Amino acid sequence: MYRVEVEKGNMSFSAAHFISFGGKCERLHGHNYAVSAILEGNLTEDRYVFDFVELKKTIRRICDRLDHHFLLPMQSQHLDIKEADEEWEIRFENRRYVFPAEDVLVLPVDSITAERLAEYVCGQLIESVKEQERLSLTSITVGVEEAPGQTAFYQHPFQRDKIPGSTP
Ligand code: ZN
Repeated sequence: MYRVEVEKGNMSFSAAHFISFGGKCERLHGHNYAVSAILEGNLTEDRYVFDFVELKKTIRRICDRLDHHFLLPMQSQHLDIKEADEEWEIRFENRRYVFPAEDVLVLPVDSITAERLAEYVCGQLIESVKEQERLSLTSITVGVEEAPGQTAFYQHPFQRDKIPGSTP
């Protein structure tokens, strides 16, 4: 079993969010998020788990889509979310936010925690990796650092029969 890890470099994004938890809701604020990834598996014919350059490029593309947006957790149980003309209106109790649509990135998650972001980025990464043949991965782990020394990880294991690009 082999493992490659990429971190630092330009695999980062800045985004705004707030989290509601325990009946409360944070104020709107932002983070400079840093993304890292660990891929485990066997070697390809080219004797690598995954091409580092390609992997970093792929993650960079995912970060670019998130960068400089307000991240909206579309499946939130606590926020009242409405889409209007070119706007998103978000309510929490007596607070009301209105964002221009172009500033908002809608994510299919229930909360913009670092854990959910790691899961989302991991899903996006899997989608990109699926297109690559000849890989023999057993798992992909994505880390999202919300602040220095504060990182959440999400690991997606691949069952042996569902390894991207594996030969039957
Ligand atoms: Zn925060």
